[in-house]
Amino acid sequence: MVDCHYLEPTTVSEVCTLLAEHGDGAKVVAGGQSLALLLRNGLIQPSHLISIQHVTELEDITASEEGVKIGAKVTLNRLIGIDDAHPTLRALSDAIKAVADPQIRNFATLGGAICEAHPASDITVVLISLNATVKLASADGERVVPMRDFVTGAFATAAQPGELLTEVIVPSFDLTVAAAAHRRFVLRAGDYPVVGVGAFVSLNGAGQCQEARIVVGNCSGAPVHAQEAEARLKRNNIVGNNGVLAAASELAAAHVAPSSDPMASNEYKIDLVSVLTKEALTEAVALAIG
Ligand SMILES: Cc1cc2nc3c(=O)[nH]c(=O)nc-3n(C[C@H](O)[C@H](O)[C@H](O)COP(=O)(O)OP(=O)(O)OC[C@H]3O[C@@H](n4cnc5c(N)ncnc54)[C@H](O)[C@@H]3O)c2cc1C
Repeated sequence: MVDCHYLEPTTVSEVCTLLAEHGDGAKVVAGGQSLALLLRNGLIQPSHLISIQHVTELEDITASEEGVKIGAKVTLNRLIGIDDAHPTLRALSDAIKAVADPQIRNFATLGGAICEAHPASDITVVLISLNATVKLASADGERVVPMRDFVTGAFATAAQPGELLTEVIVPSFDLTVAAAAHRRFVLRAGDYPVVGVGAFVSLNGAGQCQEARIVVGNCSGAPVHAQEAEARLKRNNIVGNNGVLAAASELAAAHVAPSSDPMASNEYKIDLVSVLTKEALTEAVALAIG
């Protein structure tokens, strides 16, 4: 049995006050899908569980010139098909379709998925490839952190005690010249992926790559940003250029040093990085040229 206080504030300000009051002993509960496993197995013993279930101000999805803002409490199921209304979120919607199962996605939230900081998270790699940022609120105010700096290791984030993730901001980009894509390899449906890759490219009118981001999941504690691979693409013509996409994919594979685990050997994961990066880049380029 879990012996702790369960609190149900209704505003972000109340959550922040409670987090400040109860310090390290307090844990936020969003959908509870990951937290319940930790509690059940005695891996954490919080003094206070602070549910955000009734904090309705964390449920909004809004668009502006800046980009799309998604409240931390938006459930994963709500994000499937979100690209109909917000086309820049296509890769995020695609990735979430493969996460766990509909029952889990019905409770699991975007903020919870990010704060869990699972090394194999599909959601994290896609958000980093989209150059997303997260907003954190605390009793001391708010701050914005780029997703690429937020996940600092396996199950570790840059959030300080007392901070609540309130929203995710996915910046706008020109869909006529840029796109993102996600690829994952999984042994059984519903499992975390053995390896996942998020890729983003933007092109100029001549088909040259202006911007590229390649992010690899589950090859280290935190997602790996394959910078040499990105540099290989930039300023090169990447439309219909299999050679350069393959070279960048090989560089991404050379950039990771995964450990073997019961799902796959390190060599197999490295091969997967190359294959999945090539597929994600190929899809992103195809989408960018329409
Ligand atoms: C069986 C299973 C399979 C899964 N497969 C995948 C997969 O293939 N790919 C993938 O990407 N994900 C996968 N997931 C992860 C899933 O996305 C997360 O479990 C889930 O999204 C966590 O969200 P939650 O709202 O339930 O968070 P919770 O379980 O409530 O919280 C998770 C952690 O985040 C903290 N937290 C939650 N919200 C906030 C907030 N707003 N601010 C600060 N801290 C917060 C909590 O204190 C806790 O430490 C899987 C999960 C399960 C259970």
